Amino acid sequence: MLKVNEHFLQLPGSYLFSEIARRVSAYRTDHPQADVISLGIGDVTRPLAPTVIRALHEAADDQADEATFRGYGPEQGYAFLREAIAGRHYLPRQVVLQPDEIFVSDGAKSDTGNIGDIFSPDAVVAVCDPVYPVYVDTSAMSGRAGTYGSDGRWSRLIYLPCSRETGFCPQLPGPQDPVPDLIYLCFPNNPTGAVIQADALREWVDYARNHGSVILYDAAYEAYITEDLPHSIYEIEGARSCAIEFCSFSKLAGFTGLRLGFTVIPHELKIGGVSLNKLWNRRQTTKFNGACYLAQKAGEAVYSEQGQREIRETIAYYQQNARQIRRGLSDLGLEVYGGVNAPYIWLRTPEDASSWGFFDTLLQQAQVVGTPGSGFGPCGEGYFRLTAFGSHARTAEAMDRIRRLFGG
Ligand SMILES: *Cc1c(COP(=O)(O)O)cnc(C)c1O
Repeated sequence: MLKVNEHFLQLPGSYLFSEIARRVSAYRTDHPQADVISLGIGDVTRPLAPTVIRALHEAADDQADEATFRGYGPEQGYAFLREAIAGRHYLPRQVVLQPDEIFVSDGAKSDTGNIGDIFSPDAVVAVCDPVYPVYVDTSAMSGRAGTYGSDGRWSRLIYLPCSRETGFCPQLPGPQDPVPDLIYLCFPNNPTGAVIQADALREWVDYARNHGSVILYDAAYEAYITEDLPHSIYEIEGARSCAIEFCSFSKLAGFTGLRLGFTVIPHELKIGGVSLNKLWNRRQTTKFNGACYLAQKAGEAVYSEQGQREIRETIAYYQQNARQIRRGLSDLGLEVYGGVNAPYIWLRTPEDASSWGFFDTLLQQAQVVGTPGSGFGPCGEGYFRLTAFGSHARTAEAMDRIRRLFGG
């Protein structure tokens, strides 16, 4: 008898964003005049850079002419883009990559989720708590997470608690702790906005090399780094033999709708003598037919000089929002984290309110929507996430309301 993949049945409903939508919609029904501002979205709002738009138009014209028409491209991405990524993204950071170590994709969400395909089904996965839910849910779908407990934790996952005591950075497993095979790390972090210093990242790289683990490094927010921090895990010596890196044009250049990302698997990275680059290539050529030609031409334009200037301006726009939110909340005496090297501000809820309690207070008394920290994992309880992806005007208005609410 046919059965569904029973691992899916264990997954809790996508509770977080549907519950937020439910509460906002109930509030709007009761208060039809209310002007609700969302600082909860994890999506960009600014239009694409003019240079990117021009490249998109030109690429569209290519498709109109027999001489320049493109059908299926290489599954791994066009050479022009892989070379631009190697030369413009990595080389300035002293990271030397061959274009065939870079796999262009339709985004980092699919790649961070699909990467599990090339590892043994019984691989032990470690995730930070709180965490971007994709790593957890895709581990569950592949049967690597075990069973879901009433405490909100999966039985086979190793949770790396990230608390304010450690700057929301995970601590290395101790000598008595179980050894994870796969370790998901994301810096700058969503949801906490935390960063990792080169020294701390070096400890993780050394740990992975000493224990035969592989680090799955999500660098989706590297473009928001303003301090002296590693942008790529390959800036750390030894990382090429133990780490896969994921990157995305989504937060870098506003491609959340256009869809483009890439995954790096260096040739040195081998498990039991088997090249992970070769396995991923086999996986991609079988299950993926390449990212859209228009998106790849647009991605190439991001690396032009003018493109870089323009995307930097947009990132600076969001960073200004982040500073404004951060400063506003700190001035009110709130405990605030993130927002310096990331578009996320992570705050401790005042008066030990629960994450959802604070959500309701903010919605009902300031008409501002954020994201309850508990939605990202048990260690997120008592915290709250605000995002810097809104307009200056709406962000300023939201901060005025929060200031009035707290009597500032
Ligand atoms: C937004 C985000 C991504 C990017 O996902 P895309 O599929 O490339 O849009 C990846 N990782 C994290 C943690 C994110 O927040």
